[in-house]
Amino acid sequence: MEKPQISIIAPLYNETESFPHLVTRLSKLMDSLSLSIEVVLVDDGSRDNTATLMRQLALLDRRYHCVFLSRNHGHQLALTAGLAAARGTEAVFVIDGDLQDPPELLPDFYKLYQEGYDVVYAVRRKRKENFVKRTGYYLFYRLLKSISYVEIPLDSGDFSLISRRVVDVMNQMPEESRFLRGMRTWVGFKQTGFEYERSERIAGESKYSFKQLFNLAYNGIFNFSEFPIKFMTRAGGTAIGIALVYFIIVIVKKLLFGGVIQGFTALLFVIILFSGVQLISLGIIGEYVLRIFFQSKGRPLYIIKEKIVEGKVEQPQNQ
Ligand code: UDP
Ligand code: MG
Repeated sequence: MEKPQISIIAPLYNETESFPHLVTRLSKLMDSLSLSIEVVLVDDGSRDNTATLMRQLALLDRRYHCVFLSRNHGHQLALTAGLAAARGTEAVFVIDGDLQDPPELLPDFYKLYQEGYDVVYAVRRKRKENFVKRTGYYLFYRLLKSISYVEIPLDSGDFSLISRRVVDVMNQMPEESRFLRGMRTWVGFKQTGFEYERSERIAGESKYSFKQLFNLAYNGIFNFSEFPIKFMTRAGGTAIGIALVYFIIVIVKKLLFGGVIQGFTALLFVIILFSGVQLISLGIIGEYVLRIFFQSKGRPLYIIKEKIVEGKVEQPQNQ
């Protein structure tokens, strides 16, 4: 088979319930378009029936390729594995496996690609998640935009159409703690947003734990901004400034009016406050050291257990 024009990649972690819906909608989409399309499904170490369903499908329908990871590596690494496996010569369409990102938007995205955009990213006009999550996302994207050294677009996630040349660059980026939407922006070329309404999950529960969500946010902040380090310097500078002014006031008061100033509570407060600032600063340095530590190990980003490409099962020997 010739290489397809477009690859659609979707990571799946325990998605037995949404799987049949996903396949129905993707198959329908492929049938309706004249483009040659492959679907790359990545099993992120699911513990339920997902892998079995994927295997059955890929052995039956050659448009579906599967990559099975050795264990749960997390959404970003599953997508990374998908990007590496995608063979689409023109572009790669990245969606979630729970149909929150409607695959039917592919023709709209593709049109913009044909107009010369290398990256078409989806911008959420409305979210249907709960209030806490919505507010969290809202604040996070605004914070990130204000501190990041790349112009990461607001309210856009991984849902996007990425041209082959940008995917090739992303595949060469070896960073271990991945924040794909930031990496995608960093690559550059012509990029544009496409507004859409984010649907609810078709079935099942969110597979992102709060810990994973926080990790993702941390990766965005620490990998795409110098703010934390600058914050430490500024906090230190401000503290010294305040201390100096206070010191001068105290001396002047003492010279003019005499007497020793009382202030045990104030002293305690200041000590606790600045111990806190120091610990946070140490934590920030620790965060960078941790990142260097993990990166310096040079481990592979993910391990592939098995692949099914065009109905053939492959077991990679050397990763
Ligand atoms: N996912 C994954 N590995 C994980 C967590 C999630 O591959 O460790 C997949 C999941 O199956 C889904 C997509 O990533 O297709 C987005 O996850 P989810 O819908 O749980 O996140 P949310 O939309 O709630 O942020
Ligand atoms: Mg989801």
